[in-house]
Amino acid sequence: MNTTQLCVSLTVIDAAQVARDSAQARDAGADIVELRIDALTRESQVAPVVAAAALPCIVTCRPTWEGGKSGLCDDARADLLLAAIQARAAYVDIEDKSAAAWRVAKRLHKMGDDRPTKLISSMHRFEPCGDDFFAGDDPRSSVEADVLKVALMVPDIHYVLYLMCLKDLWKCQLVLLSMGEAGRISRILAPKTGAFLTFAALDARSATAPGQIAVAEMIQDYRFKKIGLNTKVFGVVGHPIGHSLSPALHNAAFDATGYDGVYVPMDVQPGDSAFVEFLKAAMGVRMLDITGLSVTIPHKENALRELLAKGGEVDAMARRIGAVNTILIESPLDEDPGSVPDSPEADAPDDVFDDNVGLPLRLREIKVDPTLKLHGYNTDCPAILDAITHALSIPRDQLRGRKVAVLGAGGAARAAVAGLTLHGAVVTVLNRTPERARALATDFTTPELPVRAAALTDLAGASFDIIINTTPLGMHPDIDASPFDIAMPALTPDTVVFDTVYNPLRTKLLAQAQAAGARTIAGIEMFLRQAAAQFELFTKLPAPIDVMRQVIEKKLAVKDGL
Ligand code: NAP
Repeated sequence: MNTTQLCVSLTVIDAAQVARDSAQARDAGADIVELRIDALTRESQVAPVVAAAALPCIVTCRPTWEGGKSGLCDDARADLLLAAIQARAAYVDIEDKSAAAWRVAKRLHKMGDDRPTKLISSMHRFEPCGDDFFAGDDPRSSVEADVLKVALMVPDIHYVLYLMCLKDLWKCQLVLLSMGEAGRISRILAPKTGAFLTFAALDARSATAPGQIAVAEMIQDYRFKKIGLNTKVFGVVGHPIGHSLSPALHNAAFDATGYDGVYVPMDVQPGDSAFVEFLKAAMGVRMLDITGLSVTIPHKENALRELLAKGGEVDAMARRIGAVNTILIESPLDEDPGSVPDSPEADAPDDVFDDNVGLPLRLREIKVDPTLKLHGYNTDCPAILDAITHALSIPRDQLRGRKVAVLGAGGAARAAVAGLTLHGAVVTVLNRTPERARALATDFTTPELPVRAAALTDLAGASFDIIINTTPLGMHPDIDASPFDIAMPALTPDTVVFDTVYNPLRTKLLAQAQAAGARTIAGIEMFLRQAAAQFELFTKLPAPIDVMRQVIEKKLAVKDGL
C-alpha cells in the first residue's frame, strides 16, 4: 500500500489565500500542504495561516542561503517556527546545521514525544552533485529529527536511480528528492522507496522547486496513489522527453487492466555513454523493479548496440532496422522469488560512507545482477505495416508489388523501408538530403528488389500507391508545413497518404490529401499500435487499445484546442 503522502507546497501570502489554495490541493488529492512562510516577518502572522489550512501542514521559512526567499536572521526565523509550534502545525521544517534548527529542536524535544508538532530537518544542494553526492559533507542530520528531507540537484538520471537506493542510510522517516528535470521521477517513484512524502505543485504554473509536477498530473497521469513497494517501473528513455504522451498512455492502460505498474519519463542525455550509464543503473538498482523501457530519439541505435554488447536477445526486425525501441529487463525473480541471490544493496553495511571523497561505499558495491536478461524489440515497424494493412483491409502479403514512396530517410523511414521491403513492396525513398536517401536505399536493396532513392522534390507529379511521410514537416508547433508544399504528387482516390506525424491529430498533409480525394492514415494509428505492442511485451496482457486511443485523442485534442 502507498503510505507516501502527497504534499503540495504553497507560497503563503495571507490566510484567505491559504484557505483557498489548500482546499484546492485537498480536492485535487493532496494529503498535506507545506506553507512556505518565507515572506512573513512577524510571529503574529503565523497562527492565522496555520489555522486557515484545509489539510495538516508543514511550516517552512526557507532562508535565501538555502534557496528560499526569507532574508530574516536565524533567530527571527526560529521565532516564526516556534509560533507555528504554538499554533499546533503538524510539522515544522528547518535547515539542518543552522542555529535555528538547534533552537527549534530543543523546544520540541522539551515537549516530549506525544507533542502535536514534529520536526523535519532538511538539507538542499543546488549545485549539481558529483559521484560523491554530498561533496564530502556528512548527510546525516545534526539534530534529532522525526523526518529527514534531503534534496539534491542531479546532473543525470543515473544519479537519481542510485540516490533512491541510498534510502537506508537514514534510519528515520525520509523525504529523498532529486531536483531538476532528470529528477522528476524521484518525485513520482517516492512510494517505491517507502518515502514519508513527496512534493507536488498546486498547478503547472506554481512549482516551488525545479522538477515539481502538478498534483493532478501526479494522480491522474502517474497514478501516484496506486504506486507501492511492489509496483513494476517502466519508462520512456529519450531526450528531450518532457512532453512525451507515452506516460499518460501506458499508465491509463495499467489502470484499465489492473496491472501494478507505473510508467515515467526517463530523460537520458544524448550520447552513447549517457545511455550506457543509465542502463547500468536501471539494471543495478533492483529495488526499483525497472522492468521495461520504451526507447526514443536519440537512443534507439545506442539501445541496439548496448543490448548486443551485454549479450541481450534482440529480435530479427530490430536487427534489420538497426534500432531498438523496446527493452525488457527480465529477472528470474519474476517467476521464482526464491531463486535469486540477495541484491548487493540488501547486504550493504550500516555505515556506507567512506572517509575518502568518492562514491558512497554502497554505490561502489552495486553490481548488475548477472541473472538479469535483456530483450530488445522494434515495435515501430509492425505498427507501420499494421496501420497500412488495417486501413486497406489486406493481409501483409498483399503489400507485394505496391509502389510506395517513403518521404524522409531517418529512423522512422528506416523502420518503414525495412518492413515494406520484407513484404515485397516496391519502395522509393525521397529525402531532402538525397545522399541519405541513397544510403538508406542501399541498405535494403537486394538483387530481386531494388530500393530507389530520389530527392524530395522528385515527388512532384509522381504517382505511388502509398505515400508515407516520415519527415517532421507539419509537426507541432510548425503545423502549417507539409511535404506537399515542397512537391505535389499525382493523387487519385486509390492513393493512400500516411502521415506518421501524430501531433496534431489532423496534419496539413492529411488535409491536402483528403482535399485531393486520396485516402488517409493518421500518425496516431502508428503511435497507438507501437505503444500497444510495447504494453503487451511489458505486461503479457492484451492492450486496452480503446482506452489508449481515448487518452491520446483527448491529450492531442486539448493541445489542438479542439
Ligand atoms: P529523424 O531520424 O531525425 O529523420 C528525420 C527525417 O526528416 C530526415 O530524413 C530529414 O532529412 C527529414 N527532415 C527533417 N526536417 C525536414 C524538413 N524541414 N524538410 C524536409 N525534410 C526534413 O527522425 P525520425 O525518428 O525518423 O522521426 C521523424 C518523424 O516521424 C517524427 O518527427 C515523428 O513525427 C514521426 N514519427 C512518428 C511515430 C509514430 O508513432 N506515429 C514514431 C516515430 C516517428 P535530412 O536527412 O535531409 O536531414
